[in-house]
Amino acid sequence: MYGGRVVEHGPVTEVLGDARHPYTRGLIRAIPRLTGDLSLARALPGRPPTLGTLPAQGCVFRERCERRMDVCETDDPAAVTRDGRTVACHATGRPLELVGREELV
Ligand code: SF4
Repeated sequence: MYGGRVVEHGPVTEVLGDARHPYTRGLIRAIPRLTGDLSLARALPGRPPTLGTLPAQGCVFRERCERRMDVCETDDPAAVTRDGRTVACHATGRPLELVGREELV
């Protein structure tokens, strides 16, 4: 959930194992690991919006998103359900060469 909206929904093991929304992926990436390289945990850039400062149009996550595109500035992404997973993101399912951003790790 981000900015008062569900951005990804699905079975817990599937979402944790293969998160599709950039916010979900960022949250998982920020979890500190107890083993291995501790520097791999990375916090999401920026700060979450307050409900009184949500943008009037576009994706509410765009200021923090590494995959944002021009359409993210103007169009609120619809939640799309595919294979039992629901994601609200313009980039989800698009080939990375069209998105123009590196794949999140
Ligand atoms: S809709 Fe755009 S800004 Fe929002 S999460 Fe997806 S890629 Fe990022």
